[in-house]
Amino acid sequence: MRKLNLLLTIFWAVALPPVAPPALAGIPSAALRSGTTAPAAQAARLQSDPARLSTDVKLLSSDAFEGREPGTRAEKRTVLFIIDRMKEAGLQPGGSLVGGRRGWTQNVPLVKSAFSGAPSVSLRVNGRSQVLEQGQQVALRAPQTHIEQLALQNAPLLFVGYGVSAPERNWDDYKGLDLHGKIAVVLVNDPDFETGKGEFGAKAMTYYGRWTYKYEEAARRGALGVLIVHEAAAASYGWATVVNSNTDAVYDIVRSDPARVHVPLEGWIQHDAAGALFKQVGLDFDALKKSAQTREFKPVLLAGASLSVSGRVTHQSITTQNVLGRLPGKTKPDETLIYSAHWDHFGVRPPGAGDGDRILNGAVDNATGVAALLELGRLFGSALPPARSIVFLATTGEERGLLGSEFYASNPIYPLETTVADINMDILGVYGATRDVSTFGDTQNGLLAELVQAAQAQGRTYTPDPAPEAGHFFRSDHFSLSKRGVPAMSFSPGDDLVNGGTAVGRARREDYYAHRYHQPNDEWTPTMDFRGEALDVTLLYDIGRKLATAGWPQWDAGSEFKQVRDQSANQRH
Ligand SMILES: [Zn+2]
Repeated sequence: MRKLNLLLTIFWAVALPPVAPPALAGIPSAALRSGTTAPAAQAARLQSDPARLSTDVKLLSSDAFEGREPGTRAEKRTVLFIIDRMKEAGLQPGGSLVGGRRGWTQNVPLVKSAFSGAPSVSLRVNGRSQVLEQGQQVALRAPQTHIEQLALQNAPLLFVGYGVSAPERNWDDYKGLDLHGKIAVVLVNDPDFETGKGEFGAKAMTYYGRWTYKYEEAARRGALGVLIVHEAAAASYGWATVVNSNTDAVYDIVRSDPARVHVPLEGWIQHDAAGALFKQVGLDFDALKKSAQTREFKPVLLAGASLSVSGRVTHQSITTQNVLGRLPGKTKPDETLIYSAHWDHFGVRPPGAGDGDRILNGAVDNATGVAALLELGRLFGSALPPARSIVFLATTGEERGLLGSEFYASNPIYPLETTVADINMDILGVYGATRDVSTFGDTQNGLLAELVQAAQAQGRTYTPDPAPEAGHFFRSDHFSLSKRGVPAMSFSPGDDLVNGGTAVGRARREDYYAHRYHQPNDEWTPTMDFRGEALDVTLLYDIGRKLATAGWPQWDAGSEFKQVRDQSANQRH
């Protein structure tokens, strides 16, 4: 790359792509000669290359990377690949200090918990026992409370509606009932998801709708366990996704008192199995669900039913890694813009856990995001450094609960107070260019205006998250940074395909979530069209170029993340 760098000093930030010179074709020759081109014009010259994106997605999601599970040899391979690409792009190591020098990574200590063998689960109703199969009627997570044996004997079951306690909305599903010694049976999403109007963002999901919230609230109340009733629409994914995400090993960051956030038994029960259980104890699931959509709801004991679960649990400490490349800012190196994308996925299913292909390749989720991150590194690496520093953060453990970003946000290498923004990329487009762009959930901050403006400059429009009920805002790494006040946004391509329009785009997205998301066939195929992702990377480059120069995006008035950010306002000038 030395030769390229020499050229760069001569031509003042010419967009020389390190990998594919044809990208130069779109650059006006006047711009090549000019020594005084404004950053905006410079940005316009830089183009992302679909072929490079395709190559990186294909490689990262190939079987050789074994589904990129944290703590495995596949992690080593993935981390080395990302570091190599970052070096090629001209980035500098941006990770933790090792012996006084920055390395490329940040260690993230995790606990990995797993059942040794499937747990045995039996439901006793009116004196008769029936077996519930792990992966069929239930999907139980290995306990994360550091116990080595899960042994619940005839625990009573209590239906608690949506399991929400929201004093600011004058809503309490628990009505003071004691949960000690009981298993809470709870609905997914929040109380106004089905009615479409109410205090919980109507169809949009609040944090009260997330499964993580259900477990955390039950843990605060000392429950023995939680079974979430799976419903595809309310969860926004099918039962297969629930099984994949819960019955393998589960991970958490190292906590001093895990019982504060976890109950011993965390899991899901399949919809029809739950309906049958309610029927056997003389209750009507649908009618109870309706009543749970009102403030007046009171918890209902499933009288005559109890659950027994036993299983051995292993806990293993593992250290996984965030990967960070950095371009130091020219005049304000202490101010940082972050681009983030998670590198991890679900690895390889155990033998016998499905027929045929067992590797969860994670091509769209999230090799596409990592490829975009690396491409952004190349674009910035081949231009003059902006005023502020840019950190390219490839996070670990996102699929296991946003763990890498949570760890970074709790242990930031660059101060969060002077971190301008986080632009996150998770699940980008592989169906060609779109006329519109979108975000995961409501952005609630000034990054949205930047996105709209940059989209307009490309002749494109902004479409709000088409499925706000899916709670995407809480489902990727930008949430970890948002919680600590950093204005963050998770970019998403729109559905309005240049070739096919919105109907085809929406059908493809829905088909992906129903049939490939978190399943072994999320794989690269030669029919994927990366021109859309390239256009989106160029757009995200334009936004970042501007943010890396000046300005502090703010949280909208009324956003729950505004207050924590405002406390450090005096540190931003
Ligand atoms: Zn993802």
